[in-house]
Amino acid sequence: MSAIRTTCAYCGVGCGIAATVTGERTVEIKGDVEHPANHGKLCSKGTHLGETTSLEGRLLYPMIHGKRASWDKALDLVAKRFRDTIAEHGPNSVAFYVSGQLLTEDYYVANKLMKGFIESANIDTNSRLCMSSAVAGHMRAFGEDVVPASYDDLDAADLLILVGSNTAWCHPVVYQRILAARAARGTRIVVIDPRRTETCEDADLHLAIRPGSDVALFNGLLAHCREAGLIDEAYLSRSVDVPDDFWDRVGEGSDLWSVARSCDVPPADLRRFFDLFAAHPRTVTMFSQGVNQSLRGTDQVNAITNLHLATGRIGKPGAAPFSITGQPNAMGGREVGGLATTLAAHMDFAPDNVARVARFWGTEAVAAKPGLKAVDLFRSIGEGRIKALWVMATNPAVSMPDAGSVREALGKCPFVVVSDCIADTDTTRFAHVKLPAAGWGEKDGTITNSERMISRQRRLFELPGEAKPDWWIVKEVGRRMGWTGEFAYSRPADIYREHTRLSTYQNHGARLFDIGKHAAISNAAYEEMEPWRWGGAVFADGRFPTPTGRARLIGVTQRPLQAPLANWPMTLNTGRYRDQWHTMTRTGLSPKLGSHRREPMVEIHPLDAEALGVVEGDLARVSTPQGQSIFRATLSEGQRRGEIFTPIHWTDRQSSGGRAGLLPRSLVDPHSGQPGFKSTPATLARVAAEWRGFLIARDEPGAIDALWVTRVRVAQGWLVELAGDGDVTRLIRALLPKGERVETIDTARGQTRHAVLANGRLVAALYLSRTGNLPSRDWLIAQLGDTAAPAPVELLAGRSATPAPDRGPVVCVCFDVGMKTILAAISDQQLASVEAVGCKLSAGTNCGSCRPAIQRLIGQAKEAVNG
Ligand code: SF4
Repeated sequence: MSAIRTTCAYCGVGCGIAATVTGERTVEIKGDVEHPANHGKLCSKGTHLGETTSLEGRLLYPMIHGKRASWDKALDLVAKRFRDTIAEHGPNSVAFYVSGQLLTEDYYVANKLMKGFIESANIDTNSRLCMSSAVAGHMRAFGEDVVPASYDDLDAADLLILVGSNTAWCHPVVYQRILAARAARGTRIVVIDPRRTETCEDADLHLAIRPGSDVALFNGLLAHCREAGLIDEAYLSRSVDVPDDFWDRVGEGSDLWSVARSCDVPPADLRRFFDLFAAHPRTVTMFSQGVNQSLRGTDQVNAITNLHLATGRIGKPGAAPFSITGQPNAMGGREVGGLATTLAAHMDFAPDNVARVARFWGTEAVAAKPGLKAVDLFRSIGEGRIKALWVMATNPAVSMPDAGSVREALGKCPFVVVSDCIADTDTTRFAHVKLPAAGWGEKDGTITNSERMISRQRRLFELPGEAKPDWWIVKEVGRRMGWTGEFAYSRPADIYREHTRLSTYQNHGARLFDIGKHAAISNAAYEEMEPWRWGGAVFADGRFPTPTGRARLIGVTQRPLQAPLANWPMTLNTGRYRDQWHTMTRTGLSPKLGSHRREPMVEIHPLDAEALGVVEGDLARVSTPQGQSIFRATLSEGQRRGEIFTPIHWTDRQSSGGRAGLLPRSLVDPHSGQPGFKSTPATLARVAAEWRGFLIARDEPGAIDALWVTRVRVAQGWLVELAGDGDVTRLIRALLPKGERVETIDTARGQTRHAVLANGRLVAALYLSRTGNLPSRDWLIAQLGDTAAPAPVELLAGRSATPAPDRGPVVCVCFDVGMKTILAAISDQQLASVEAVGCKLSAGTNCGSCRPAIQRLIGQAKEAVNG
């Protein structure tokens, strides 16, 4: 069977995939060599998409109050409850909360229904949590939310500044492209990030700035550029409006030493950064969540755009500020007005725009003003002002800040609809109606990646059960609410044509987002559409989509940074792991991806850990005024003193306590409404569990009553890490399935070990210890396969009678190579480069996601040799 060209489900890089369907729900995944975003490369998540296409956990039928229902009944009920609520309480008493996982066509129909017919703009998206400060910054500086860069600029730049962006983990294919450009033309790399992440491994310079001091840094650099005569005065006078007091504000406290103090970095490093910037006119400044997820996010974005505008480093090859998005279709969402603060086709709520959209949609009911942004939206639900909510393809009970309050709000809301492809998420538990949506591999439409490239995502499998595409579900509700002709779409191409027509309708060059050249695309041409980037080389002509045709420098000053609070002396930062995506509903199905990090860990500087009496592997409770969660502690020199980091992925389903979303405040940036996830006042304390252990099992165990429980998929089963207090008798009884049991109980050493066999095969094994003496997981996990179980004595020992060398935690997921194997190869065979390690072990030679980790191991080995 020939490969179907589609796109990845996960991040904003937007990689093309060549997918060959090999069975009813199986598919072979390769990178699409013809896709310009990735030229055939994929990271670990994309490479293992084929492990996530089973029907495990899928929502396959509409459900009303937990009972299966027909589509007609469910849709009628949703339409009626929304209609009745609007009739009684007005249009602003209802809301949609949608997702950057939706395709553009889905997003367009949802926005049209809410903003054009319900007459409310209460539709916000989880992209609010991801990049809304970039949107607000772009609109202030350029007059439109336009990303003035493409991946080609990464190839053409001489200097790349990566700000608040763990690119190596979060956008791995772009990172590999950066490294390739560096190898080819010596591109210099500066990383600006409070944490020393894997992205720093190949950097020429890492500035571990104080969180939130980005404005001081970029204002300082701009002031330095002015002193050094690097301001492009001709460009400014031709293309940019400069407020009268702009340079005074930039100049405040911007001498090198003051900036170094504000940012808490060595002056010499700061000088090096300034010199690198001065020496390389072709500079791209790429930024993501570290900049956006801040209480000062919009100002930080504008400090970056100011620098590029004032030095004329924009609109030329290899010279641009570049916001890279987290989600696959955050950009498509922005194009249809997916945020509550934008209307459609890059228009805002100016009266002319409202009238124009009303004419185009043939309605008089277009919302006249912005709706509630995500945090306010859930607050309004909690306060009883929103009475009907529809959540599409996202999990706010986990991902919103102060997620405990969000859960309370969801619990109080009189009517909650969730359309999702997964049956049981932390959010679907609050749903009165659940609607089964298409998942990746079943969706059909378009996405726009971070560089404005529109690509097709194509269907690989038939829709399972009674699942339906999101656009179909929304238009059916719209029709049942009375707007029959306005939502008469038969296929995604119908919606795409309408969306492209709207982008060009009475545009006359006012907005750069104009994709009207596809307005008459045929169904066949839509099917065959090749990836294409709208906008071309934006801003190359020095004109901007503002009323004056000029960009704007925005005067921003560094707002004071909060000193650590007496009762909350640590600062919590949250973010992503390399091989997991959001709340793990899809990536969590892949045993390979699960092997990279098997538990949620809190990273802490060793000196902070020592002061708190925490050692590597301890459990640690992180508390904030909003809530508390428990994580496995890991010590890292990459953390600044006083700062800790936790991953966002684990939910109640996978963990009894490792849920990061409970912890951040719901404080937001004043311009964008984006929450500041990166700097929550917190405390950390060791959790003294009386015992710890783990379970491996063929079948997923149900709810487990213990202090600490986290579970991940492994090949042929599950690995559950456990810790707790008191007697374990009941726990053992609850956890072990029926079967032939072998066990050993060593009261003196405080350990119990149990293995359960059925038909000579291992189905479960449980190891508990009061001293922490536990066997290695990997050998035991391998015994869960279909082969006969090893001898009982080996099972209880947790190792083979002829032990294989311990390979350590998995580094290369593609070739299953462990850390100790790599370190041994480096030292035994004196390997000095990632390529040499790849030649010997294959590690790092497929997706490349682990190459920075291998680079770090080479560095560690060198340090060990040099003492
Ligand atoms: S970088 Fe990885 S996750 Fe992102 S689109 Fe490409 S393959 Fe998917």
